[in-house]
Amino acid sequence: MKDSISRRKFIGRSIGISTGALVLPSAEAFGMQVKSGSTIPLIITSHANDTGRKALEEGWKILAAGGSAVTAVETAANIIELDPEDTSVGYGGLPNEKGVVQLDASFMDGRTYSAGAVACLENIKTPSSVARLVMQRTNHVLLTGAGALEFAKAWGFREENLLTEKARKIWLRWKEEMSAIDDWGPPEHLKDQQKLESWWQDFPEIEHHYGTTNVLAIDKNGDIAGCTTTSGLSFKLNGRVGDSPIIGAGLYVDNEVGAAAATGRGEDVIKSCASYFMVLRMKDGRSPQQACEDALHMITDRYKKVNPDYFPSEKFVAINKYGETGCASMKGSVNPQMSVMTGRGYTKYEGTIAFPGK
Ligand code: ASP
Repeated sequence: MKDSISRRKFIGRSIGISTGALVLPSAEAFGMQVKSGSTIPLIITSHANDTGRKALEEGWKILAAGGSAVTAVETAANIIELDPEDTSVGYGGLPNEKGVVQLDASFMDGRTYSAGAVACLENIKTPSSVARLVMQRTNHVLLTGAGALEFAKAWGFREENLLTEKARKIWLRWKEEMSAIDDWGPPEHLKDQQKLESWWQDFPEIEHHYGTTNVLAIDKNGDIAGCTTTSGLSFKLNGRVGDSPIIGAGLYVDNEVGAAAATGRGEDVIKSCASYFMVLRMKDGRSPQQACEDALHMITDRYKKVNPDYFPSEKFVAINKYGETGCASMKGSVNPQMSVMTGRGYTKYEGTIAFPGK
């Protein structure tokens, strides 16, 4: 494995956050122990676009005012979920094969070792908030489908149509061209991957044809929280649940270590328990960057006997309790990025590609 630490770098620059009288505290001001070059409080998201930045600016206000990591994470996740232009998360997400938007989300609180999640939730724009309530107001971890919706309504969430015109038109186009690129049939790891990718080239305006967002934060007390929220794989089978609401797969948080989360083809993330694996790697002393890369290599190692040319599209992010960050993707030619906000301002962190050119 390559030495990622020497290659990773921060890009972008401090933005001089326009938060008025907002005090931007340093880790030292909070008496936190951090590694050189890192700082706490900290909030990150796998979304490196404008919405990701806006989300972190709002999440940061909570942290800077001394608020909890849980609230900062929820505030940031809600902003991404409510963006109608984002076709990968919440409102505006691409639907399943039936044209129905089914959302998955999970939440984990490292301080209390509690977790909550919802899967196949319909008609609610902010599934991360419902997941937080499952975590804080029930003795369960995961609610699905009709039960998750009933729970959300009981807590006052309003049912709304989540299918935007933009998403509906893309879905109709997919139906018209439906063929070997849907998810029916045995995967055979996965013979039509290239065809699937080339189909999407007709939609350059769609930034995320699949995708998810992860938000991870450490607050002034050193408490760590995380959330993963998604509309899941586009045109998935009705009722399909991805990795995002599965604790240990799409998300894992441990106050004593750090937090990790995943985006990409959830089936592989579920089978590999990738987020839990990353946290265990960090517990063993690996940096967040190394832990992300280790997890990607672990997945391809598992597939070697079945198909050595199979490199599922995944992107992993991680933070440790010292305020260090990491991000890595499985393949491609463009290094993955994520958004990071600390007392020093906003940066885009550029991660590594585990298998460049694949
Ligand atoms: N991980 C999500 C899922 O499998 C989708 C994605 O991140 O692209 O549902």
